[in-house]
Amino acid sequence: MPLGRFRYALFASGVALATPAPAATMIPDSPPDMNLCLQTAATRVPMPAQQALARIEGFPRKLLALRSYLRAEKDLALRWSWTDEQIRSYEASPEYAQAMEQIAQVQRRFAALNPGYALYVNREVRSLDLQLQRWNSNASVGKTADALAAAARSVCKPGSESFAAWLAAWVPSPPPNLAAPGLSPHGQARAFDFQIKRGDVLIAGTDSQRIAQDWVRTGWTKKLERAVREASPAFVGPLRTPNEPWHYSYAPERLAIPATIPR
Ligand SMILES: [Zn+2]
Repeated sequence: MPLGRFRYALFASGVALATPAPAATMIPDSPPDMNLCLQTAATRVPMPAQQALARIEGFPRKLLALRSYLRAEKDLALRWSWTDEQIRSYEASPEYAQAMEQIAQVQRRFAALNPGYALYVNREVRSLDLQLQRWNSNASVGKTADALAAAARSVCKPGSESFAAWLAAWVPSPPPNLAAPGLSPHGQARAFDFQIKRGDVLIAGTDSQRIAQDWVRTGWTKKLERAVREASPAFVGPLRTPNEPWHYSYAPERLAIPATIPR
């Protein structure tokens, strides 16, 4: 590459790095006054959340995520998903080994109680990138976000200071089946999803459309609950809101409590 072009490329990339787009601006698919309400409310949330908002596609999905960021308040920084570097350091820690052993105990108990079946558990900490990707494409998020955006139109007034409070108090019905990007407990290895397989066939997975037929009618919700309860006190669940029979919180501080049956 000729020197001139090389220097230009450096200069151009330097400019791009030095001037990141302000969070929550340049949203083409909503009227300008709605953007202003969003931007004003977004100034109340900390920087990682503002940066995440800038990467969320479309006004309704941004608004729905901002609602969660406002509600998280001071806990946001504490709950915020780990960076790749933090994930790597966790994966080299004794805490990670302990979590893997607790999962293995649940898998062994489940297999003993349900011959022919096995639990599949994704052990990877869910990165912010993946959470953003899912939030931007998930249909249930889109549906709830559209309902929120429609409701917000009558509330957003020029210069309104109360919009953020209204947004934080708005209750989605039904709730979206994803946490806002950055706030998933999977982002700090504080939750694991247990899916049921027979051989290579997924019998009950994480599809919220199939809960009634795959989890409830077949009894897998209860069978998984039993195996978890008997294997390890570290898992609490399943998640009720939204209803996710596969999702259990991981609370290693509970490991001081003995499991319900001796191992
Ligand atoms: Zn989950």
